[in-house]
Amino acid sequence: MYIFKKVEDLQEFIAAKKEKGLKIGFVPTMGALHKGHISLIDASKKDNDITVCSIFVNPTQFDNTDDLQKYARNLPKDAEMLGLAETEVLFAPNVQEIYPPDLKTEVNLKFGGLTTVMEGRFRIGHFEGMVQVVNRLLEIVRPDAIYMGQKDIQQAAIVSNMLMQQKSATKIVICPILREDHGLAMSSRNERLEPADREKAKAIHEALLKAKENISTLDLDTIKKQAQDHLLSVGFKPEYFEIVDGDSLQSISQYSDSKYIVACVAAFMKDVRLIDNMILRNEKA
Ligand code: AMP
Repeated sequence: MYIFKKVEDLQEFIAAKKEKGLKIGFVPTMGALHKGHISLIDASKKDNDITVCSIFVNPTQFDNTDDLQKYARNLPKDAEMLGLAETEVLFAPNVQEIYPPDLKTEVNLKFGGLTTVMEGRFRIGHFEGMVQVVNRLLEIVRPDAIYMGQKDIQQAAIVSNMLMQQKSATKIVICPILREDHGLAMSSRNERLEPADREKAKAIHEALLKAKENISTLDLDTIKKQAQDHLLSVGFKPEYFEIVDGDSLQSISQYSDSKYIVACVAAFMKDVRLIDNMILRNEKA
């Protein structure tokens, strides 16, 4: 595996590969890798000749400095996992490489309702920072495809929208959520849960499954209330449990409002904030 820390070195490597007509897949991450991340690498490796994984804990997307400071970092272990997954390239730049003082990196695009709901409501500035870093990384890597997780469904929807607005040549591939055996969605933040809390955290998955079971028979307010109550009962402090149209991400008020319905949840277990989601109905033509 090649490891690059400098933008210029990575770009030189990619240019040589593109000249040979090779296809480039790109998996952006913030490190502390787990099997969920590796599933994106595997998806990229299936479709492309070269897979580039970036590890960059992007300071501009954190609305909470404590969360940024506590974010797990372990580059040697990450590099080992990527090596085992036969990733061709790891790009691990520092903040100066991504945000040189003389380069304008903010992105002036509008995303309508996609950025104002759910994560956008509770994490002010998060999506501006996420769009800024993904756009910068895409300008550096210029991949044929970017691989992102449905785990961060709102992020994936915003990046899809950005690529559409930019008429980008890069396509987006959205990969399914990998879960622990007991249902908790894999996440770098799970490492910060105490063992007993990690066990309790399966309640998020249980709440989502219950919502799926009842989606066509109970009214949506009842489903949301049941989910919030279940989370509260094990010690979560839910921020939201929304039932939305999976394309617009806007809340729906009844089952017949959308053929593509997703439940999305964010909740704190002590100071650890977890997010998850589940497709409840997908009858898109
Ligand atoms: P992160 O390092 O948390 O920024 O995540 C990097 C990428 O991995 C994002 O596209 C996430 O949606 C994706 N990802 C995170 N957790 C999972 C998971 N449990 N299953 C599949 N993909 C995931």
